[in-house]
Amino acid sequence: MYTDLALHIDGQWLNGDGRAGEDVINPATEKPLGRLPHASAADLDRTLEAAKKGFEVWRNTPAYERSKVLRKAAGLVRERADKIARIMTQEQGKVLAEARVEVLVTADIIEWYAEEGRRSYGRIVQGRQKAVRQMVMQEPVGVVAAFTPWNFPTLTPARKIGGALAAGCSLILKASEETPGSCVELVRCVVEAGVPPGVLNLVFGVPAKVSEHLIPSDIVRKVSFTGSIPVGKHLAALAAKGVKRTTLELGGHSPVVVFGDADPEKTADTIAAFKYRNAGQVCISPTRFYVQEPVYDRFLKRFTDYANGIKLGDGLENGVTMGPMANSRRLDALESFVSDAKTRGGKIVTGGKRRGNQGYYFEPTVVTDIPDDSKVMTEEPFGPIAPIVTFKTLDEVVARANSLQYGLAAYAFTSSVATATAIGDALESGMVGVNSVAISTPETPFGGVKESGYGSEGGIEGLEAYTVTKFISQA
Ligand code: NAD
Repeated sequence: MYTDLALHIDGQWLNGDGRAGEDVINPATEKPLGRLPHASAADLDRTLEAAKKGFEVWRNTPAYERSKVLRKAAGLVRERADKIARIMTQEQGKVLAEARVEVLVTADIIEWYAEEGRRSYGRIVQGRQKAVRQMVMQEPVGVVAAFTPWNFPTLTPARKIGGALAAGCSLILKASEETPGSCVELVRCVVEAGVPPGVLNLVFGVPAKVSEHLIPSDIVRKVSFTGSIPVGKHLAALAAKGVKRTTLELGGHSPVVVFGDADPEKTADTIAAFKYRNAGQVCISPTRFYVQEPVYDRFLKRFTDYANGIKLGDGLENGVTMGPMANSRRLDALESFVSDAKTRGGKIVTGGKRRGNQGYYFEPTVVTDIPDDSKVMTEEPFGPIAPIVTFKTLDEVVARANSLQYGLAAYAFTSSVATATAIGDALESGMVGVNSVAISTPETPFGGVKESGYGSEGGIEGLEAYTVTKFISQA
């Protein structure tokens, strides 16, 4: 059982009805799950008008009422978590337990924004004359166009839906064409919770055509994108032409620094589990492992044991701990990382190849003896491949960790408070986990530096991203 795929425009669900479209593929079987309609140019124009009208309605709805709708939506997501998770596993590949956690976190995000939207305060600044009131107001930025990828089909849309709607904006969401079903279900929850027509619209299509239609429109005042760096740069350039606010959450290449005073087994268990989550298709996935020489052998052994213990298979099956890659592009990419590693003298300790010939399965892989300028150490792998190398000193590892243009997430493990403080300060990264991998929660800011993007989603920063500041001086 999959789901009915449809567009949602101006409060109406629209299916095929003569529209162009594409098949959605189950990556575990390579079989089609359903047919996704694409929005036509006329549909997109109608969506823009609907969002404009929706914005007027929603910005004038009290924050208290908006909060009630979002809170109800979060409740519906929780009630339907099992159903939505099954849809997600079929279209994206992640194991059912992970899909379920994602859906529950999706509900948490929407609920958190429901609460925080009521606390979007301004301030009064003392006037220079007694009768003057100087008011600093936070207003919703306007109509938002948001673009989300296939690796977190409901969590990433929830960050944009929650932030935008809590702030009083209307939203046009173009979710991933490869994983549309679970997002359709998420939008159903928000719609059934009572959001007025035009406030939340969902479209699909050829990504470049949709973004090039929506972003230049005068109606759109803010662009939010999660995805790859090249696409992010392209969309930022489109937005810049209209001086539109932009939030970009792009890729990463997260260093993990394991110091000699960390417990190597405990650290390996924690970080390996985090590494192979969603088959490594996570923007904050740990991707470069620098381990200090005294604990290297023990860390490598335990990490490799973890990788070898993973059960690869269809995420709907009991006992499976890692599903297929989400699409065939990832298989090709991973093969090229492994072949480059081999030609650069790298040793494949485990894995390193596709498993079977039906379904996009790739083995959990560990690589050692690999130079810092190899492909896997410099380009985001977005897959279950872990290069593990040694280092000697803190200064050396900081320089190596900071050497790339990425700056999304970084991790370090140590039992020394002084080292923990030093490495936390030194890593050039939007988020740093020190003896922790808990760097993504609804309450905390999530976003990168350098080419990993700008702006934050989550935390009070995630709400502010959808507001503009207005100053009123009233005499
Ligand atoms: P891609 O660059 O083609 O697409 C990335 C996402 O952007 C997709 O969801 C796609 O639908 C969307 N997209 C592509 N072109 C667009 C356009 N012109 N306008 C609007 N949206 C557009 O790459 P891919 O093969 O899907 O993924 C490859 C790489 O993307 C990964 O290796 C990873 O580096 C990165 N990625 C990052 C994230 C993240 O969470 N930051 C998520 C998915 C992919």
